[in-house]
Amino acid sequence: MDLGKISIVIPVYNEEQGLRMLFEQLIPVMEGMRREYEIVLVDDGSTDGSLEVLQEHAGEKVRVVELMRNYGQHAAVFAGFESSDGDIVVTMDADLQNPPREIPRLVQTMEEGDYEVVGTIRACRKDTTFRKVTSRMVNAVTRKITGVDLHDWGCMLRAYRRHVVERMVGSREHSTFIPALATTFAKRITEIEVSHADRFAGESNYSFAKLVSLHFDLITSFSEFPLKLMLYTGFFLALFGVGFGAFLSVARLYFGASWAAEGVFTLFAVMFFLVGAQFFAFGIMGEYVGRIYREVKRRPSYTIRRIY
Ligand code: UDP
Ligand code: MG
Repeated sequence: MDLGKISIVIPVYNEEQGLRMLFEQLIPVMEGMRREYEIVLVDDGSTDGSLEVLQEHAGEKVRVVELMRNYGQHAAVFAGFESSDGDIVVTMDADLQNPPREIPRLVQTMEEGDYEVVGTIRACRKDTTFRKVTSRMVNAVTRKITGVDLHDWGCMLRAYRRHVVERMVGSREHSTFIPALATTFAKRITEIEVSHADRFAGESNYSFAKLVSLHFDLITSFSEFPLKLMLYTGFFLALFGVGFGAFLSVARLYFGASWAAEGVFTLFAVMFFLVGAQFFAFGIMGEYVGRIYREVKRRPSYTIRRIY
């Protein structure tokens, strides 16, 4: 079988202390695979000495991309995608939480199973309990909105085929979540278990606020359910208002005006109807906004896998 080139894409943000160890572990693994490879490291506006360490290692097989400032992990990975040209692209973190020795197995799984995307499940994940619990919820939501049954969407140690990467780069989305985006351009997707380590040095770059914003990106990029929710809420509120109004009119005929608190309840019915109508109107507007959003994202509406 023709062995294609492998690109490793690594976003780097203030990882000075762990970078040397990263090269020490990664290079032998890549050399050991005995095939063409390149390592693309993207310096995402680090403010420590990361860039200098990266520059020291730049060479024939190691490309260093320096970004103007800090754009965030997913934007950095996109930058790495754009300057990579391997047939298989593997993304991973720079902090050694994803052990490089897992790469050969990832690639092997992809090639033997003819997969487009190989995800990973972090066995014995070394993160805070808070991160693990929230991940579990996010994973469930992501499974729902992408319709793809993967168990760990947060682990960036993943392999993608070239054409999936091209599609992602071509989508030109700003706030997105790469592992989820990739699944929209892939048919055969699987995941394998990999080990997970403690951060080699430093702390996670994700503050609580950054995590919330990342997950908000994930949901809004892949689901229009929040917009639909407005439409449904409005519809049912308005329907309830009409029903309540009809009930009051009938009840009044039987029990008289005093029963209905002299029209106070009627006012409630009218209010329900109006509030519902308003929600409904927002929902319709939301539908149009959703359509504009979809157009703006320029995500291909289909992807051909093969032609026979
Ligand atoms: N990273 C980045 N830009 C950022 C934040 C993080 O390029 O703004 C990189 C970081 O250097 C690391 C990876 O993304 O290689 C994952 O970051 P981190 O380890 O902080 O996240 P966690 O493992 O806690 O999810
Ligand atoms: Mg990490």
